Amino acid sequence: MAAPAGTSSTRSAPLPGNSRTPDALPHFVHGVRATLASDRRGPVWNPSTGRQEREVPLATSSDVAEAVSSGEVAFLQWAAWSPLKRARVMFRFRDLLQEHATELASLIAAEHGKVLADALGELQRGIEVVEFACGIPHLLKGEFSSGVSTGVDMYSLRQPLGVVAGITPFNFPAMVPLWMLAPAIACGNAFLLKPSEKDPSCPVRLAELLVEAGAPAGVLNVVHGDAGTVDAILAHPAIQAVSFVGSTPVARHVYATAAANGKRVQSMGGAKNHLVVMPDADLDQAVDALLGAAFGSAGERCMAISVAVAVGDATADELRRRLADRVRSLRIGPSTTPGVEMGPLVTAAHHHRVAAYVALGVEEGADLVVDGRNVRVDGHEDGFFLGGCLFDRVTTSMRIYQEEIFGPVLCLVRAADPAEALGIVNGHEFGNGASVFTRDGNTAREFADRVQAGMVGVNVPIPVPLAFYSFGGWKHSAFGDQNQHGMDGVRFFTKLKTVTSRWPAATTGSEFTMPNLK
Ligand code: NAD
Repeated sequence: MAAPAGTSSTRSAPLPGNSRTPDALPHFVHGVRATLASDRRGPVWNPSTGRQEREVPLATSSDVAEAVSSGEVAFLQWAAWSPLKRARVMFRFRDLLQEHATELASLIAAEHGKVLADALGELQRGIEVVEFACGIPHLLKGEFSSGVSTGVDMYSLRQPLGVVAGITPFNFPAMVPLWMLAPAIACGNAFLLKPSEKDPSCPVRLAELLVEAGAPAGVLNVVHGDAGTVDAILAHPAIQAVSFVGSTPVARHVYATAAANGKRVQSMGGAKNHLVVMPDADLDQAVDALLGAAFGSAGERCMAISVAVAVGDATADELRRRLADRVRSLRIGPSTTPGVEMGPLVTAAHHHRVAAYVALGVEEGADLVVDGRNVRVDGHEDGFFLGGCLFDRVTTSMRIYQEEIFGPVLCLVRAADPAEALGIVNGHEFGNGASVFTRDGNTAREFADRVQAGMVGVNVPIPVPLAFYSFGGWKHSAFGDQNQHGMDGVRFFTKLKTVTSRWPAATTGSEFTMPNLK
C-alpha cells in the first residue's frame, strides 16, 4: 500500500526490536520507526539508577498530522477486512505478546520502575483485553427483527469510526494502551497512540508486534509527546474519538476540548481508593491486602488503596500495629532484582512531590507511624526510592486525605461505625474503586449497593474488572459515559446504524403522515 504523502522523507529505516537508539527513541509511523520533524525532546530515566537512559521526541502538530494521514490510508483497507480476518491478526498479536512477555516487561521495569513480576502482571491484564478482542466477530453482531411490518425487516450494525486516538499515563505502559487499542483496532479503526513520554519504549514494541502479527502499516501509529502533542491530537479534525487515561485535571481538559471539537471522548482521571475494614474482618487477610494494594507498584496505580478506613478504635489500633511492622520491613530495591516487593518512583520530580506530601501530612497533624523518606538502597543511591509511609489519625479535612498522592503512602482514617465509614468514602471527590473487608454478607451487600464508586471489592483490595467487563470510575475519576474495554469498549469505538428495509411485493403508494409500520 502507498504511504501517505510526506512520510518517506522523514522516516528512518526499520530497526530490529532490540536495537537501541541511545539518543532518541523514534516514533512509530506507517509500520516503521520514524524520526519525523520533532526537535523538542524529553528525558527518559531509569528510576532504579537515577540515570537518564535516552531521550524521547515530542511530536509537533505536523508530526501528528503525518501519523493521522497514515491512519486514514490504513483505515480504508483495514475496515474493509472481515471481522474474522481482523480477529486472526488479534490472535497472532496475542501469541506474539506472550512470546515477548519478558522483553516487554523488562522495558516496563527499566523505565517505570515497577518490579519485573508486576510488569509481567500488567502485561497479562493487557493481553486479556486482546483475547477479548479476538471475539470481535461475535461482539460486532447487531440485532435483527424480521417482519416488523409487511415486507419490512429492521436491523442494527456497528461500524468503525475511522482514525481514533488514545492518550495514556505512565503507570501502565502496556495495559492501558492495550485496553484501548485492542478493541478499537479489532472493531476496524486505525489507532493513534500517544503514550506517556516517561516510559515510551514498550508502546513502540507493541506497535511493532501488531505489524508482525499481520496488521497493515498505519493501523497502529505511535507518536510520543507531551501536552503540546495532546493538544494537536485534540485539534486534529480527522480524529473521530479520543480515549484518555491520566490525572483528573488533564482528564477534564481532554474531555472538554475533545467534546468542543466534536469528538467522541472517554476520559479517565485520578483516584483515592478506600478500603473499609469492619470490626469482624479477618485482619490477617486485610493487612495482606492493604500491603499489596497500597505499596505494590510503589502506590503508582489508579486502583491502589491509599486510604484504610478502620471501623472502631479497636480495629484501628490493631490494624496500625500490624501494618507498621510490615510496612517497615517492605523489601525495596531495583525493579529487576528478584524478591524485591517495591521499586522506585518513576522520576525524581515525582519522588519530591510524594515526599512533600509526607512532610505536609506531618504539618497537618497526622500521626506519621512509618516514615520511608530516608530509605537507602545500597549501590543505587541515586535511584528514586521512597520507603513505605503509614499515617494514622488522618482526617477528611487534611490535604493528604483529599488529594491523590500517587506514591507509597497509606492513610489510616478512623470511623466510629459502618455508616460513618460509608459516608467518608462517599464524601470524597473521587470514586474509582472502593473495597470492604468483612465476614458479614449483609454488610458487604449494603456496601456494594450504596458506595459511590465505579468498581467495588468485597474482601478484594483491587477490584479491577476482567477484560470482558468494563473499567471505569464515578465522580471525578471519569468523564464520559462509556468505560474502558468490555462491551463499553466496543460501543465506544463503533457507530451504531439501524436499517429499515422493505421489499414490497407491489407498490404501496405515498404516505404523508409520520410512517407507522403495519
Ligand atoms: P498525566 O495526566 O500527567 O498524563 C497522562 C497523559 O496526558 C500523558 O500521556 C501525558 O503526556 C499527557 N499530559 C500531561 N499533562 C498534560 C496536559 N497539561 N495537557 C495535555 N496532556 C497532558 O498522568 P500520569 O502522571 O502519566 O499518570 C498518573 C495519573 O493517571 C494518576 O492520576 C492516576 O490515577 C491516573 N490513572 C487513572 C486511571 C483510570 O483508569 N482512572 C488509570 C491509570 C492511571
